[in-house]
This record gives sequence, C-alpha cells and structure tokens, in this order.
Amino acid sequence: MPEISTSKVSRRDQHGREHVVQVRRRGAQRTIRCETCGWRRAAQFLPWLKAEEHLAQAHRATVDPAGTRSGR
Ligand SMILES: [Zn+2]
Repeated sequence: MPEISTSKVSRRDQHGREHVVQVRRRGAQRTIRCETCGWRRAAQFLPWLKAEEHLAQAHRATVDPAGTRSGR
C-alpha cells in the first residue's frame, strides 16, 4: 500500500503575492506542481529545492513566509 503524502513550498514575491508549489509524495516518487502556473515535474531528489528554484526563476518569489516576520 503506497503511502501518499503532500507538503508544500510557499514563497512570496516582491509584491507580497504568495506562490505555492505542492510536493506530492507517493512511495519513492515525488511530483511537484506549481499552483500559480500549472508547472509540474517529477523530482526524485530534493523536490523542495526544485520547487524553490522554480518559484525564484519563474515568479521571482524568494521570500519564505515562514522564515521572515517582516510582512506581519
Ligand atoms: Zn509556477
């Protein structure tokens, strides 16, 4: 029985908009999908890193909402 779990990586861009990439894990396979533009790919290793990369490159979103409190 494959174990399915999801997590997400969210980053804010300079305009304060939040972009979310879903990381879906099914057994050893991981799929990442961007909620903003629909971009998706399989990432076996370090899906979070790839998600961050996409957010930074495609949406210029590099601010970790959990890591900074300047917005609140
Ligand atoms: Zn995207």
